[in-house]
Parts: sequence; C-alpha cells; structure tokens
Amino acid sequence: MVDNNGTQKIVGLAPNREHSFYGRDVVSVNQFSRDDLSYIFKVADEMRALVRRVGATDLLKGHILGNLFYEPSTRTSSSFIAAMERLGGSVIPIHGVQYSSVSKGESLPDTIRTLECYADVIVLRHPEVGASAMAARYASKPVISAGDGTGEHPTQGLLDLYTIYSELGTIDGLHVAMVGDLKYGRTVHSLARLLKLYDTELSFVAPEILRLPQGIRGEMDEAGRPVHETDKLEEVISDADVVYVTRVQKERFADLTEYEQVKDYYVVTPQVMAQAKERMALMHPLPRVGEIHYDVDSDPRAAYFRQMENGMYIRMALLAAVLGKV
Ligand code: ASP
Repeated sequence: MVDNNGTQKIVGLAPNREHSFYGRDVVSVNQFSRDDLSYIFKVADEMRALVRRVGATDLLKGHILGNLFYEPSTRTSSSFIAAMERLGGSVIPIHGVQYSSVSKGESLPDTIRTLECYADVIVLRHPEVGASAMAARYASKPVISAGDGTGEHPTQGLLDLYTIYSELGTIDGLHVAMVGDLKYGRTVHSLARLLKLYDTELSFVAPEILRLPQGIRGEMDEAGRPVHETDKLEEVISDADVVYVTRVQKERFADLTEYEQVKDYYVVTPQVMAQAKERMALMHPLPRVGEIHYDVDSDPRAAYFRQMENGMYIRMALLAAVLGKV
C-alpha cells in the first residue's frame, strides 16, 4: 500500500505496544511466549510480502543500528544490515573489532555505552556466554544478541522456527531431529528451547562427546516433551519431519584431535535423503563444512537457502518491533 506521500506502508500492522516488544532486549529465546512468536511470524510474513512487492520502505528512516561483531559472521551480520536498510534505516558496522578501540583494551560495557550514543539499537555477537545479557544491563537502548559463544543465538532460533512453520505449515505435531554438534551449537540451544513451547517430539542425534548439555535436556524434560537421544541418524531419518543438521564447531574445541574424530560423523547425501519422508524439511543454520552434500541442494526438501532468506524477514520484524514501529 502506498500513502499520499508515495511512502510504502506495512499493510495491516500499526504501531502496537500490546506485545511490549518496544524498547526490549532480545538475549534469549526463553523470553518469548507462543503469542509473541505468532506475532513476530505475522510481521515477518508482512516483511516478506513487502520486500517481494517493492523491496524497501521508510519505516525506520532516521534510525541507526550499531552492528557489533566480535566473532566472524556472514549471514547474521549481512542480514541485519539488509534488514535495517530495507526498512529505511542505516547501520554502523563494526565487524573487525581489531580495528576498533576494543584492540586498545576497551571493555564491552564501555564499547556498548559508546555505540548507544550514536545508535538506536545494538546487535551484538560475542564469544562469551552471557555477553549480550551483560551488554543489555549497561545499555539503555535495545540490545539484540547475534550469538553469544556456545550459549544461544536467539534470532537464528526464531528464523529456524519460522522456517519450520513456513515449510510445513505447523509446528505442533512435528518430530524434529537435531543432528551434529549439540553441545557447542548455540543455534540448537535456541531452537530446542523454542520447540519445547510446542507439542513436538524431539530427537537429539550426536556423538557421545557432542551431546546436548544436561541443563537444556532437563528443560525439555520439564516441559514434558518426548525426547530421544542417539548417535545414529538412521534411527530417526525415516520418521522425522524436520532434520536440522549442524556444523561441528571447530573453534570451540580445546583439543583439535577430538574435533578430528567427530568432524565427519554425519554427512547427508542423496542416499540418506532417500530414506527421509517425502514431505519434510532439511535445515542447516550454515555455514556447512561437509555435513550436507552439494548434490542434496536440488532436493525440494532442502530448505537451508530459504531458511537463510527468512533470516532477513525475521530480523526486519524484530528491528521494527523493538523500535516500536509494529
Ligand atoms: N552461523 C551459526 C552460528 O553463528 C552456525 C555456525 O556457525 O555453525 O552459530
């Protein structure tokens, strides 16, 4: 819809404080209810439609995002930039902290306090668990975690859940198998915590040394979700509606010989996919380093490229929500 000034409008969504996203930090998926998630998905749908129709809007014109990355990133950093720019805002990109005052020894709280003088919202990726929550305590502007070490990656969890919903039309009733590095994979931690809000059956497939941390496993049990743990993908592949494959997180290993032992533990090939359901979604947060064979990419069930596109719509929705525009 275009108004009298020729400005693109978000159809059907007016500023809404009911969900109280306005001014809120996003540091863990545990802060979201099912209602919150439905709302974010609805806004993400609107964002997708808007981008497909006209590419961009001026909803966040005059707003600035501080994009602060202490760890490497391709998809998360560029999709936050694209999200902000498609909403008419602009970005301070700090992606090589070695070129910022961090290399002079500046603390995270001081860097955050600096950035918030110039920006309206801060996105932070940091190698330490809990860094985003700490940053949020110091910042008066909203802080959105883009991953904190081996802890969580909440916006990835949201886009993963949104992808499951977009691909299969439901979340309740699904059997979701998460495969690979469940110990260090922060995206798994966020997605598992979101899935426990739904009537799902969960399978955690990992070699012994990469099993899901006890604490998160306990959260699944407390939520009453049926959980199956195994190291054999063949036990679950034919029954799963979603197979969520992850990279073994080399950078988290103290002993690289351990990494070498497990790095090629699971490889999804066309032969593996032949055992999967006809209607299912194969997902991966990416980057992949051998866990899914390139020959699988043309399989219509391979959802990982659609999944990364969804990241931009989810991040558009979150930015608009924490800045009080939807
Ligand atoms: N890109 C995801 C993350 O930052 C997954 C990965 O790196 O394996 O956690």
